[in-house]
Amino acid sequence: MPKSEEEKRRSRISSMKRLIVAYLLLGILIPILLCILLFIKVDRLQKELDQMQRQIASQQREGTIAPEQADPANADTDAGQQADGMQADSSLAKWQTEETEPDDGQKRKVYLTFDDGPSSNTDAILDILKQYDVKATFFVTGKPQERYQAMYQRIVAEGHTLGMHSYSHKYDEIYASEEAFEEDLSKLQDFLYDTTGVWSHFYRFPGGSSNQVSTVDMRELAAYMQQQDIYYLDWNVASGDATNKKIKAQTLVDNVLTGVGKHQTAVVLLHDAANKNATVEALPAIIEGIQAMEDTVLLPVSDDMELVQHLKIQQ
Ligand SMILES: [Zn+2]
Repeated sequence: MPKSEEEKRRSRISSMKRLIVAYLLLGILIPILLCILLFIKVDRLQKELDQMQRQIASQQREGTIAPEQADPANADTDAGQQADGMQADSSLAKWQTEETEPDDGQKRKVYLTFDDGPSSNTDAILDILKQYDVKATFFVTGKPQERYQAMYQRIVAEGHTLGMHSYSHKYDEIYASEEAFEEDLSKLQDFLYDTTGVWSHFYRFPGGSSNQVSTVDMRELAAYMQQQDIYYLDWNVASGDATNKKIKAQTLVDNVLTGVGKHQTAVVLLHDAANKNATVEALPAIIEGIQAMEDTVLLPVSDDMELVQHLKIQQ
């Protein structure tokens, strides 16, 4: 074989070798690298998931979490709602434990507040309040259906405070922008005025002023409230009825009475919704327990009360 032929053959072989090596690199190494990257990613997501599950579990133990089930009786307006007291931020635990300074000679003031009504349970709640001669506060949403008209009016007629809790109660809508929030607020304020003749100036933010779902800075919304002369009020005692798990009425009673005992001004979070029968069941014992406490009064929310707010803005 001539020398040049031999050289050509060698160079063909070596270029084939290079091709094979390149092929190996592309065909084997790249998939391996991708697998490693994906494995790292999955591992990281798994850790995040575990952490979130632990958070949810600990909050469920406190009875302060769970998306609210749609109220079957009000399916038209309640779809997609979430309960207040649903928090995903551990830094917010402090408002539950922070105790109000005891004030010598002053009576303890307790405010029972019912969110999310009116509902098929509103009349039952009003009946119990009437029976015990207790005035409370209802943070209502906008439900234009005929059957709710009388409930809004009854709340007012029986001396309870009518507060606002957004018209739609849909977090993704009301917290989408400052304009959307303001529009929803004014729609509810007008609606309540037309229905009851009351120009409400109390507000409870869906999810509270400490909610972590708003895309708008809550300080902006709090400042807007101040401009509009609307007081927003959160709570420092969670009954635990925000959960959509089966909860015993006695647990709600215990949560409320223990919580109230820690505060000189106690604002109690309860719910007025069709699926919250335990709240109605617990209410008589809650009232009796509070009425049995020394130097303690049950009051409706008013202008001169000490506001309990999770998010404070500079006055
Ligand atoms: Zn609510």
